[in-house]
Amino acid sequence: MNTIPLPIAEPPSRSQRAKPPANKHEADKLAKRLRHQVGRAIADFGMIEDGDRVMVCLSGGKDSYTLLDVLLQLQKKAPVKFSITAVNLDQKQPGFPEHVLPDYLTSIGVDFHIIEQDTYSVVSRVIPEGKTMCSLCSRLRRGALYTYAEEHGFTKIALGHHRDDLVNTFFLNLFFHAKLSGMPPKLLSDDGKHVVIRPLAYVREDDIEAYAEAKRFPIIPCNLCGSQENLQRKQVKKMLAQWEKDAPGRIETMARALGDIRPSQLSDPKLFDFMALGKRGDDALPDAHAWLAGGETQRDDD
Ligand code: SF4
Repeated sequence: MNTIPLPIAEPPSRSQRAKPPANKHEADKLAKRLRHQVGRAIADFGMIEDGDRVMVCLSGGKDSYTLLDVLLQLQKKAPVKFSITAVNLDQKQPGFPEHVLPDYLTSIGVDFHIIEQDTYSVVSRVIPEGKTMCSLCSRLRRGALYTYAEEHGFTKIALGHHRDDLVNTFFLNLFFHAKLSGMPPKLLSDDGKHVVIRPLAYVREDDIEAYAEAKRFPIIPCNLCGSQENLQRKQVKKMLAQWEKDAPGRIETMARALGDIRPSQLSDPKLFDFMALGKRGDDALPDAHAWLAGGETQRDDD
């Protein structure tokens, strides 16, 4: 598919977007906001129930660290009992610091497992040099994690996608795939075997950045392998960052719109029965072919 030009401008610099909390009071407020938003998302979408075994996919990025951290806090006071296991896939990218996650996870005392699978060699063999590898890399990662979840009886797979990811994906699908569709907070995997949850669905990326800095998570950058992310995704991110700069709060407005859909005000006859709307008789209505070919009905003035 061709890349369509979008209004692009450089996104605001890192310092304009998120600042770590200035003092303990601010840090506590941020932590409380995150717990509140995650708790609300879990409740709104029925993400976790009593007896669930939740596998938290941990990449070493700010999002998944934040997800794990907030879920562990909520677990202590949750109205249901559920277990948490952090799982990382070591894809054997060059330079991956394999001790960082085990050290951190051991220090916080959470149950964890590192899967070792050299998907990096596969990706670098299959994708021509200079092309983005992220899409295949993510697909292989997802496959390995889902297989592990199935083999070990996890009932929920928790991913660290946040509010801004949900909005980005919506616009990617809108601009490049002609679909009104996004990244849902909860979904059943294509093979029907896994329930995937995104408890950070209401959380702003800026807040996650600030939280990750305040908590000093040992971040492992995803681009160690040197691959660039998909150009279309980059374009959409820049566009949204510019919109947010021009009109602060716009991303939040759009995120709220994703949860307030009116099928009768859109144009998809699969979602709303436009045929039945105002129909007077029981006869089947002529289809498009009949309209184009001309009907048999004679008008009085013929
Ligand atoms: S940057 Fe590298 S490791 Fe990260 S998703 Fe892309 S290909 Fe995979």
